[in-house]
Amino acid sequence: MKTSRPKEITIAGAGLVGSLLGVMLGQQGYQVHIIERRSDSRREEVDSGRSINLALSERGMHALRMAGLMKSVESLLIPMRGRMLHSVDGQTEFLPYGQRPHEVIYSVSREKLNSLLLTAAEEASDVEVTFNQLVANIDFDAKQLVAVDGPSGQSKTHDFEMLIGADGAGSRVRRALIEKTDGSSRSDFLDHDYKELEIPAVVGTHAMEPEALHIWPRGGYMLIALPNLDGSFTVTLFLPKTGEPSFESLVEPSKVREFFRQQFPDALALMPELRSDFRDNPAGRLGTVYCSPWHCSDCGLILGDASHAIVPFHGQGMNAGFEDCSELLRLLEKNDHDWAATLPEFEQTRKPNADAIAEMAIENYTTMRSSVTDEKFQLKRELGFELERRFPDLFVPRYSMVMFHRVPYAEAQRQGTVQQQILADLVDGKSELDQVDFEHAAQLVRERLN
Ligand SMILES: Cc1cc2nc3c(=O)[nH]c(=O)nc-3n(C[C@H](O)[C@H](O)[C@H](O)COP(=O)(O)OP(=O)(O)OC[C@H]3O[C@@H](n4cnc5c(N)ncnc54)[C@H](O)[C@@H]3O)c2cc1C
Repeated sequence: MKTSRPKEITIAGAGLVGSLLGVMLGQQGYQVHIIERRSDSRREEVDSGRSINLALSERGMHALRMAGLMKSVESLLIPMRGRMLHSVDGQTEFLPYGQRPHEVIYSVSREKLNSLLLTAAEEASDVEVTFNQLVANIDFDAKQLVAVDGPSGQSKTHDFEMLIGADGAGSRVRRALIEKTDGSSRSDFLDHDYKELEIPAVVGTHAMEPEALHIWPRGGYMLIALPNLDGSFTVTLFLPKTGEPSFESLVEPSKVREFFRQQFPDALALMPELRSDFRDNPAGRLGTVYCSPWHCSDCGLILGDASHAIVPFHGQGMNAGFEDCSELLRLLEKNDHDWAATLPEFEQTRKPNADAIAEMAIENYTTMRSSVTDEKFQLKRELGFELERRFPDLFVPRYSMVMFHRVPYAEAQRQGTVQQQILADLVDGKSELDQVDFEHAAQLVRERLN
């Protein structure tokens, strides 16, 4: 049987996904060249324009374990054991994410994690990272790309055997690949944007509970905060672009302050720099990328945000991109490193999962900003945990499947839909867990989830 195993792999983008993939392919004996548009964040401050910290969970950690990096990453992590809900009057309520000690997610600095991955890539044999080079034009027929040097503006043509686009949501590789294959691509933007703010450390320590993801759910919008190792929190405001209140309507510093005073008074008390942070930090867009195909014959592939950027409300964009890396490596191994066989199989297995997490991530915005405060939601959540305790082989709550397991996203979504129907039936007309008929529950779970 003829197999196609390229010797050299070119990766566009040394973000989270491109640098992890570089490490993993280098470990498999490939010669890897990563071309990155930005300068090296380890040597000079780079304006990332993206979130400062991220939630890392099981899928991402599995890929990091495969690359032998999890031990080093551990020192960067802060566990977040659940959601800390803040009501308007400043009361807080803690809702654990899971019910076993290891069922937590972790806050990690994007910049520190990216630096660690870049260093690991450079330490792997035969991996080279070139910074300040924008991949501008790609010709898949000629297997050549043109990279433009940032400081000088000079262009250089590179030959490639296999080009992998890990160049993020605005991917140029995607554009070229879609053009070459006559495929299709679209980005759907929400009518909400986000803005990052800060709760600084108080004498080197966290001003709120550090081991939680803090949420101020306010129905149509929300504020969240994730802890950083230096004692600060990165705070993100998600708000409509237009209307009242919105990023369009909140321009005057006095209006911004008044809005925070009314809606997030306990957070405001901890945000001395709100005025300048709000003025200086740009509002970012929130979108989902849908495209097809993800590969062309045996010389091109896109992964991570380049093929499936999603909104951040399930904390899964990076995790899904890392899972792309572990899945690609698994399939390469299975197919004896035959890339022509692996690329279509990768796309066929990953695309339905990417579509599923994209949809669940959009849904989770409503959960976070509104449903979490609903009594029925909380009762269903408790009942979900109880069913998991009673039927651990049959019932794992959807949130847990996504965050603490590696059940394919599409399967988590399918089971989640059935679970929602079961939970809704069981809590109908009830306000307490002990009113639920567990004989009936057992019957429903066995009938519908078996
Ligand atoms: C507000 C917010 C919060 C988020 N929170 C989470 C979270 O909690 N958990 C989670 O898992 N995910 C989260 N995400 C998603 C996560 O940030 C992305 O999924 C992740 O960064 C994707 O990694 P990537 O390497 O595919 O793309 P990117 O991180 O975008 O990296 C792409 C890289 O390619 C480079 N590049 C781009 N174009 C070119 C070019 N033409 N030539 C050369 N280089 C190029 C860029 O400079 C960059 O370094 C969040 C996203 C946002 C916006």
